[in-house]
Amino acid sequence: RVRVRIAPSPTGDPHVGTAYIGLFNYAFAKHNGGDFILRIEDTDRTRFSGDSEQQIFDAMKWLGLNYDEGPDVGGEAGPYRQSERFSIYKDYAEQLVEKGEAYYCFCTAERLQKLRERQAAMKQAPGYDGHCRNLSKEEVEAKLAAGEPYVIRLKMPYEGETIVNDGLRGEIRFENSKIDDQVLLKSDGFPTYHLANIVDDHLMGVTHVIRAEEWISSTPKHIQLYKAFGWDEPKWYHMPLLRNADKTKISKRKNPVSLNYYREEGYLKEGLLNFLALMGWSFGENKEIFTIDEMIQNFSFDKISLGGPVFDLVKLGWVNNHHMRLKDLDELTKLAIPYFVQAGYYENEKLSDEEFEKLKRIVEITREGSQTLKELPVNAAIYFEDKFELPVIEEGMNKKERKSIERLTSSLETETGKKSIQMFIEKINKLNEEISEDEAKQILHELQDEIGEGPAAVLMPLRAVITGKARGADLYTVIAVIGKERTLARINNILN
Ligand code: ATP
Ligand code: GLU
Repeated sequence: RVRVRIAPSPTGDPHVGTAYIGLFNYAFAKHNGGDFILRIEDTDRTRFSGDSEQQIFDAMKWLGLNYDEGPDVGGEAGPYRQSERFSIYKDYAEQLVEKGEAYYCFCTAERLQKLRERQAAMKQAPGYDGHCRNLSKEEVEAKLAAGEPYVIRLKMPYEGETIVNDGLRGEIRFENSKIDDQVLLKSDGFPTYHLANIVDDHLMGVTHVIRAEEWISSTPKHIQLYKAFGWDEPKWYHMPLLRNADKTKISKRKNPVSLNYYREEGYLKEGLLNFLALMGWSFGENKEIFTIDEMIQNFSFDKISLGGPVFDLVKLGWVNNHHMRLKDLDELTKLAIPYFVQAGYYENEKLSDEEFEKLKRIVEITREGSQTLKELPVNAAIYFEDKFELPVIEEGMNKKERKSIERLTSSLETETGKKSIQMFIEKINKLNEEISEDEAKQILHELQDEIGEGPAAVLMPLRAVITGKARGADLYTVIAVIGKERTLARINNILN
């Protein structure tokens, strides 16, 4: 049975890299009917950050990357938090010492510092020199009895090569002589990443390790650890790192890396996942917009390309816009409500049925041109802002902008314009407060027929007084959405 995991460290905001790697693990597991595990690697207490673990759970749930086993959902191979497994690691480290695969090292920080300085002076590669590797049993026991602090180190072979068989990259060879005797257990009794990671992957029955490329250099150490324990190694897949446009690893300075950011900006989980899937993987048939279920069905590792995928926010916006348009309108509207509240368009998130229906229509229209939920209220301002002034030509505006403002304002000065507004007021006054889009359309048609002129002359002045904009939403939808009173109030506001 396929068992895969992600193993994030709770060191800050949940990282978009965690979602990226999580997605590929999830898709692979689900494609194969296997298990997807979440393990929290919180052994490094110096980098620990309070609610970061909960934020990882929340982010994974938001994205729908539901794990079958994990700290908050349980499972047979738990606990799934490394800080609750310390005694296990110590036992295993000691087992390796007994087997002669690892050894106690009593070197002090000062000695290691001197060693580093000597190596630097002699232009040698830094690394542990094996000083304690051959201490006799008696020496070790005496030091332990004297309470000298120690670490446990793995005995790396001095010769030969370790070959990483990567499912995406083929064979990667590492010279053993260049790999240090890794510390497995630190002097405070805490395990290192290497030890805890391997012991857990083994005990949790992980069959495939799918992780970011940055861990490749750790893999030979991990393979040596599996050998030392006499365990079978899992299959390795190192995913390409997400890159900035300049091909450097994505970093906070150039791109937001926190999943919270993407959630708050109003990217949909469908959009973010689709975008992350495109980072290195391709669906085939030039299909760029797809759902996670479609990805699961079509998943295979041979569709991954290793050229560093560029984390391009423009592309993300494009992908997300597609999912905004594909999403069930009711659901999208519900997701959008907080953003409309934030924009000040509603007092709170409890909308009446009538308000909700109106908002639904607004969302339906504005989602076409919006990339995020947050952009919806911005693009829907025309439906909410009743008090506006006509735009004026300002310095720095280009010709097109100037022209469009001129057309708008000058349309009010014409005879046709004045007539159009007057007749419109008379007609709308005959309707009820609630105006349907058809009714509004009907009035606008009648006006053109009765005045005997085209939309530019008849409708532009109405656009001016009802929306203040030469372009944008259809006039009849605005009228229908805001109703009779507000339409009249807007006209009044501009004319008086
Ligand atoms: P640091 O800022 O210390 O380098 P980091 O940017 O690697 O850290 P982490 O919190 O260590 O951030 O990363 C969280 C997870 O995301 C890790 O599993 C890591 O492998 C993965 N990850 C980090 N950066 C990338 C990236 N550019 N592409 C893909 N995965 C990444
Ligand atoms: N704790 C590591 C991380 O932060 C796990 C790396 C791995 O998958 O082995 O990603």
